[in-house]
Formats: sequence, C-alpha cells, structure tokens
Amino acid sequence: MAIGILAAMHDEVADLIDAMTRQSGNQVHRIGMRDYHVGEMDGQPCVVVLARIGKVAAAATAVTLIREFGVSEIVFTGLAGGIGSHVAVGDIVIGDRLVQHDLDARPLFPHHEVPLLGISEFTADLTLGAELKSAAEAFLREDLQSQVPPHSRKSFGIGEPLLHVGMIASGDQFVADVEKAKDILSALPDALAVEMEGAAVAQICFEYAIPCAVFRTISDRADASAHVDFGSFLSDVASHYSSGVLRRFFAARKVYRPQ
Ligand code: SAH
Repeated sequence: MAIGILAAMHDEVADLIDAMTRQSGNQVHRIGMRDYHVGEMDGQPCVVVLARIGKVAAAATAVTLIREFGVSEIVFTGLAGGIGSHVAVGDIVIGDRLVQHDLDARPLFPHHEVPLLGISEFTADLTLGAELKSAAEAFLREDLQSQVPPHSRKSFGIGEPLLHVGMIASGDQFVADVEKAKDILSALPDALAVEMEGAAVAQICFEYAIPCAVFRTISDRADASAHVDFGSFLSDVASHYSSGVLRRFFAARKVYRPQ
C-alpha cells in the first residue's frame, strides 16, 4: 500500500515530486484545490501532496490521502520554530508526541485535550520515527555538506546541526514572539518545536488508525526575527533537508522492505 507524504509549502516537496516523475512518471489528481501526485519512489508506491499551511488544511489533506488514495501511513515534512532551549536553526526535530498548543476548551475539558476524544498528546509511530531518525542522521552526517552550499550554511549559522526526538506543538499561529513562545513552553515544557500542522495530521491518523510521523527542519527560534529570511531559508536550506532525508528514507526501505 502507498505511503502519503505531506508538506505545507511547495519547496518542501518539489524535489520529491520531480524525482518521482523521473522514476515512475506520476499521475496528478486534483481534489479540493490540491494536487495529489501518485507514483513510486524506489519502487514504493507513494502519494505526495502540498497540503498548504495550517491545521485545517493539513487535516483535510490527510483525510483525502486516507479515504481517496488508501494510503497506509503518512509522513509530514516541513519547517518549524525551535522553542526547546537547545534547538537551533538547521537542526532536525522528529516528533514522538504531537500536541495542539492552541486547543483550549477549559473549563469544559483540560487544556490541550481534544474534546470528546479525550486525548491531548498524539503519539507518532515508533517504526516510522526510527526510520526517519536513521535517514535524518545519515543526511546530516553524509549529505549536508555537499547538498547545502557553504554560503547558505554560513549565512544561517548552521555548523554541526543536531537531531532531536521529542514533542512538537502545533497551532494556527506563526510564532514570532519570545513571550508567545514562553507561554507555549510554560504550558508544554517538553515541547522542542512549534509549527502549524503536525498535531492535526496526527489526530486524523489516530482516528483512522494509520501510522504517522512528522519531521521538521528548524528554520527559526520563534522569536522576533522568525520571519526574516524565511523564504531564502526555505529555498536554500530546507528544500535540501526535506528531499535529502526522504531520499535516504526511501532508499533504506528499498533495502529493508522489498515490495
Ligand atoms: N512566511 C511564509 C509563511 C510561513 S508559515 C510565507 O509567506 O509563505 C510557517 C510555516 O512553517 C508553517 O507551515 C509552519 O508549520 C512552519 N513554521 C516555521 N516556523 C514556525 C514558527 N515560528 N511558528 C509557527 N510555524 C512555523
């Protein structure tokens, strides 16, 4: 069965779509203003789609992947702001738990709990997470130097980036304010990164019993400079991270999970 790959922005999946087109050709299905690219990577069926930004967009796209395309697992790739004290620009965060930091139906339900579902933290799939971790480690160790030009690494202060596994907090807000980041951290002290889609996809995957994983390249520190150079970080750095990690991910699956 196919794996679904989602991202919020074009540059995060453009290279993967090109690679898939070269390898297998791909069919494009337009549903609900989104293009679903159906093809194969290293012999493995996959559906790649640009979900666009925010929890609603991501959740709707995840449902379509599951219901229309029958994907059996989902991976979300994208950018995030680092809010953990040791999480720096250029690091990678793999979510093992995903929480909607802006979900607050108190006093009816506890902070962050999804009403009527009774869950606050969605757990990412362990196997997918481990596969992404190996792929990300290999990318940082072996590909980063050659794939991201030295001037781009220098201008974003990327030296020897780290890989973190931990909590990702999602909400419909671009966090570009230290006080806001502190508020999120005081409610969710374990959160390493903040973004706008992951926990929504994780909720849908929980409801459909589909394994899911989220990996994020840290583009900013969720502070007043978060929006600065966002576009050039996306095209010069993050696009290489997404496609580099996913290339490694698919290549390892070809070896370990022959179809
Ligand atoms: N400036 C961009 C908008 C990016 S929105 C534009 O003009 O198109 C931010 C995207 O990156 C979202 O998909 C979100 O998941 C992620 N992201 C990166 N840094 C973030 C931050 N500090 N807060 C929230 N989301 C962030």
